[in-house]
Amino acid sequence: MIKKVCVYCASSSKVNSQYVETAEKLGKILAENNLELVYGAGSVGLMGVLADSALQNGGKVTGVIPKFMVEMEWQHDGITETILTETMHERKEKMAQLSDAVIALPGGCGTMEELLEMITWKQLGICKHPIVIVNVNGYYDHLLAQFQQAADELFMRPEHLEMWSVVNSVEEVLHALNNGKTIHENMRKFAKI
Ligand code: AMP
Repeated sequence: MIKKVCVYCASSSKVNSQYVETAEKLGKILAENNLELVYGAGSVGLMGVLADSALQNGGKVTGVIPKFMVEMEWQHDGITETILTETMHERKEKMAQLSDAVIALPGGCGTMEELLEMITWKQLGICKHPIVIVNVNGYYDHLLAQFQQAADELFMRPEHLEMWSVVNSVEEVLHALNNGKTIHENMRKFAKI
């Protein structure tokens, strides 16, 4: 059963209001469904909007952030729990350990790197988290096309395209989390291309 959801999303505050509304709605949906949010502990951008919305709606929010970001005063001071790490690598590992599922909202290279690492870990059988990509406004169309190309050109197996679900709106996220595509029990058997 999914209880804690890790969300990757933008640190930018300059993005289109549609993305801001998406982050706000997701925070509310998670809180209303008693799903604890695990995220990068940021106070700005979609990260801040997401955390604020979850908190305002009575949700529990755990942030995981490297010490150097706290020294830069990038952390959100109002969240339920903050976990400090030495490095970005430790942060991502901790976020994965603390959560049962992963959601990627639109974001920049940090978000995409986090998403791709999680997909890579799943392919290698290191973790089994359901992964939902929120493709609002077609933001991830090019990335999804790249994955398809990777499979078409045999850099990935077709089965690997089953590792994540794609939704076009945040309202579909819960359904996707709970009814995700079935992946093979032992991904490691399929890791070798
Ligand atoms: P991006 O999608 O490139 O905006 O990156 C989001 C990720 O970048 C976060 O999960 C963090 O790893 C990192 N990050 C960048 N800026 C900040 C910030 N001001 N506060 C917290 N995390 C940040």
